[in-house]
Amino acid sequence: MKVSKFGGTSLASAAQMKKVVQIVLADPERKVVVVSAPGKRFASDQKVTDLLITCAEEKLQTGKIETDSLLAILQRYEEITTGLALPPTLLDELESRLRHRLAQPIVEKAPWIDGVKATGEEASSLILAALLRKQGQDATAIDPKEAGMLLTSEYGQARVLPEAYERLSSLREREGILVFPGFYGFTSEGNLVTFPRGGSDITGSILAKAVGAQLYENFTDVDAVYSVSPAYVANPKPISVLTYQEMRELSYAGFSVFNDEALQPAFQAKIPVCIKNTNNPSAPGTMVVFEREAKPSTIAGIACDHPFCSILVSKYLLHREIGFGRRLLEIIEDEGISYEHSPSGIDQISVILRQDSLSAEKEVRIRQRIEEELQVDHIEVVHDLSMIMVVGEGMRSYPGIAAKATNALAQAEVNIVMINQGSSEVSMMFGIKQSDEHRAISSLYQAFFEENN
Ligand code: ASP
Repeated sequence: MKVSKFGGTSLASAAQMKKVVQIVLADPERKVVVVSAPGKRFASDQKVTDLLITCAEEKLQTGKIETDSLLAILQRYEEITTGLALPPTLLDELESRLRHRLAQPIVEKAPWIDGVKATGEEASSLILAALLRKQGQDATAIDPKEAGMLLTSEYGQARVLPEAYERLSSLREREGILVFPGFYGFTSEGNLVTFPRGGSDITGSILAKAVGAQLYENFTDVDAVYSVSPAYVANPKPISVLTYQEMRELSYAGFSVFNDEALQPAFQAKIPVCIKNTNNPSAPGTMVVFEREAKPSTIAGIACDHPFCSILVSKYLLHREIGFGRRLLEIIEDEGISYEHSPSGIDQISVILRQDSLSAEKEVRIRQRIEEELQVDHIEVVHDLSMIMVVGEGMRSYPGIAAKATNALAQAEVNIVMINQGSSEVSMMFGIKQSDEHRAISSLYQAFFEENN
């Protein structure tokens, strides 16, 4: 059995929905189909989820339900259902469900918004199941409450509860194609709650684990995951196979193919994930697997994120001072900031933070406290850094990758502000000036993917 998840662009229009049906019917193993809300049809279009959020916020501000965003959502549903020649009663049903949610009393803002936000996925599941039935298939839109998608009560940020797996596993016994709306579930008290944005990926991964799927397919709008973002290099090489660990490290550093958390349940159950293109289903896509054979040249990809800043602290022989690192990190913790990395040396330690978490006032307070409480020789805050991550299983066992990377950076005349070999041993991180980012990435790409290696 396969769990197949279709993202927003795959369900954005009647034409896209037809492609989804073809893909589902092409393989009888595709029994559990997870759907996002209709997404963008073209670059400047709006996702239904974004329209739903606007609609909810307008209601909160003005008390009105009849807004342009409501109209835009209903128009999208109408375009899709008429384009698929589905009965008008389905459109009425979608409209009345949405109006019902909007009309619910607002006891607390967050649960009420989650209720509205989730109607996009609910609509997709009802439309797709109706379309499959119209083609003579036995298909059901599943209600996540009845199926047991039990989540924590962190509205907009929910996580799965362990008992959900047992409940959801009985989906295996159900007949026909099960169309499951992504992105939301219910708390143990029965309140609707959503995952973070992009959370339909998480739904798919949870279901794959719950039903013990042989494969979790994630259909999107690209042929594969690329070794570097096309924003930096024209026509980058696609990645055919990468491990969970590599995928996680790449998504941490700005690869946005997958919702980061989504991999966890499938990973725990060692279920491979295949990322494929709804618009080109015959392309092999990218497989994410538990382990793979590593060759010396096995660099999976290069990712990059910005802006970061670094608080660099120098003190003679600080490595011998017990508790120095803890006290430094405590000062940062007291400002409510989480740190990203903390490379250290004999006389120096730096703490890397996301720049948007360090306001000017916080920076002044942190500097003052470090000077006073830690009696340091020197402190410097460097802004506008980029973190470049070179990721590959080959790093675990083969020497020379760091040399190759630093060489490539030197050739591009990029000054390295910081190097950090991830404790996971499958990644290496370079802190550089943000203004050097493009040059650095294209030089690294050339060294690892274009030259004979
Ligand atoms: N529709 C939701 C979003 O846009 C969830 C998803 O598509 O995965 O974030």
